[in-house]
Amino acid sequence: MIPHILVVEDEDALSTLLQYNLEKEGYEVVVAADGEEALTLVSEKLPDLVILDWMLPKVSGIEVCRRLRQRSESRNVPIIMLTARGEESDRIRGLDTGADDYVVKPFAMSELSARIRAVLRRLRPGLAEDRVRCGDLVIDRVAHRVKRSGKEIHLGPTEFRLLDYLMQHPGRVFSREQLLDAVWGSDVYVEARTVDVHIGRLRKALNRDDTETDPIRTVRSAGYSLDLDARD
Ligand code: CA
Repeated sequence: MIPHILVVEDEDALSTLLQYNLEKEGYEVVVAADGEEALTLVSEKLPDLVILDWMLPKVSGIEVCRRLRQRSESRNVPIIMLTARGEESDRIRGLDTGADDYVVKPFAMSELSARIRAVLRRLRPGLAEDRVRCGDLVIDRVAHRVKRSGKEIHLGPTEFRLLDYLMQHPGRVFSREQLLDAVWGSDVYVEARTVDVHIGRLRKALNRDDTETDPIRTVRSAGYSLDLDARD
């Protein structure tokens, strides 16, 4: 899965440079030139990480950060703030507002890249690696293989994407609509109960052996989560 990064920066030259370099590194990049546009883009498609300039027209970077943290769907999106102000008080204010890291302008692209990788590794471990382990489950995104306790599990393409997404956020509960958007895409019309069908298939594939604990938890009237610590 390609990490999707939203760059919010009003200086054209810098946003073009960031987009060019981040795309070269394999990220999918969307650019917003002001805070208002950034908030609209986030509600259209939740990014995996936001690079957010402090000084922006219309809605400031700090305000964008605050609003993203207030909305339940974007509460956990990693945010790296960019700013020309390197003063300690501003740094602390930025982190207080909920930014995960902070890069002072001017910066080297290699520094920003390293921070992005570090933040993704820390907050979204499932995105940064080709092979992700979660309890006794291992997913290999390059080879498109899944193993549970060392035994190969055969999954259809939709079940694979569903498991991949759940493994990126272990313990977090997703509604059927959120899973539809993330796995099928928000522009595809699919009924919510389709999710139940595919979760059912995924469960069946993962739980061939009665001795194992079902890693998928159904949360009544809320949705599903991957919960490898769950004991029933
Ligand atoms: Ca600016």
